[in-house]
Amino acid sequence: MTRVAPNPDNLVTVDLDAVASNLAALRALLAPGLGVAGVVKADAYGHGMLPVARRLKAEGAEALAVAVPREGVLLRRAGVQGPILVMMGLAPNSAPEVAAHRLTPFLSTMEEFAALSQAAQALGREASCHLKVDTGMSRLGAHTREALELLNAAAALPGLRLEGLASHLATSGNPGDGFAQRQARAFGGLLDQARQQGHALPQSSLAASGGVLAPPQGAPGGPGLARLGISLYGGLPHQASQGRAELRGAMRCTSRLALVKRVPPGACVSYGCTWEAPRDTWLGVVAAGYSDGYPRSASNQGAVLINGRLAPIRGRVCMNAFMVELTGLDPLPQASDEVVLLGSSGDAEISADQLGQWAKTISYEITCSLGAANRRVHRP
Ligand SMILES: *Cc1c(COP(=O)(O)O)cnc(C)c1O
Repeated sequence: MTRVAPNPDNLVTVDLDAVASNLAALRALLAPGLGVAGVVKADAYGHGMLPVARRLKAEGAEALAVAVPREGVLLRRAGVQGPILVMMGLAPNSAPEVAAHRLTPFLSTMEEFAALSQAAQALGREASCHLKVDTGMSRLGAHTREALELLNAAAALPGLRLEGLASHLATSGNPGDGFAQRQARAFGGLLDQARQQGHALPQSSLAASGGVLAPPQGAPGGPGLARLGISLYGGLPHQASQGRAELRGAMRCTSRLALVKRVPPGACVSYGCTWEAPRDTWLGVVAAGYSDGYPRSASNQGAVLINGRLAPIRGRVCMNAFMVELTGLDPLPQASDEVVLLGSSGDAEISADQLGQWAKTISYEITCSLGAANRRVHRP
């Protein structure tokens, strides 16, 4: 079986200099002693895991973080060195692979620690791992009540190097957020106790982008890591963290006008006739749709840029096309002109956060979808 090649009219361009510049801007906000784990899960949020990981390492990122072991294995096979955190922990039966490739999983149960210990001993080496604690997100992680006991039991297993305590904030990026503060205090308290009991845990991590752009009170400083994802790509975890760092969007996505046409007053535009032309209207048919990762929920909401000017979406986004209004644009765009779905055109820009708002989603989902569906090139 072969997959049909992606639409040649569409192109995602990833600006690796923007990622490097965002890394530098974010570093300036870090508490002393904190390093950066660059989060490159989900193909680096659609930006391309390998090129992004290589650039982050070249720029001095102390670690990388992925979701699942197979992503880490791919990085190792490509020659990427240094710590690679596997945040979803051990996938079933993956302990031997995780140990063989020197990946560092976040673990939440004694069963997981035991499996990794066994795999490490079978290879005659030590395996690094972190203890994940659930301080309020109710996703992965051991209960805070059991964390110290689990830590001591895991540390006593042969072949394991416990290098960090990890937790994840459920709400963050909003300065003064009370829930994040409670999580930060719980995490900080636990880390203090663990260190008093002799665990150094030098790679401990709590903050993701939100926790760095708007650090919750009580968050521990170094030594440790911040796990930075969306902000490296120029997106924000929360609107309230706007302006906290100078971030540049790393992804640009373009398409083409398949056709330019004029329709009369009262014309129905696209499925369901959710938009009717109020007057003589110039429409451009964009050669991209939801099968190209462009969100259908941006129907009648979003806009695109053509030669630096905004053209609003009229009617519903279809599978391979959608219509934008060109009335009043002078000169009138022509078939095959470039259409910017995401990124800059002239002096104007559509950010992933903006497109996310139009589509009632988040920048994370926008870049994941566009990056996965389209041809992609990297600059430089
Ligand atoms: C995805 C993820 C991150 C990165 O979050 P951003 O908001 O993109 O910075 C950090 N930690 C964990 C556990 C994650 O799942």
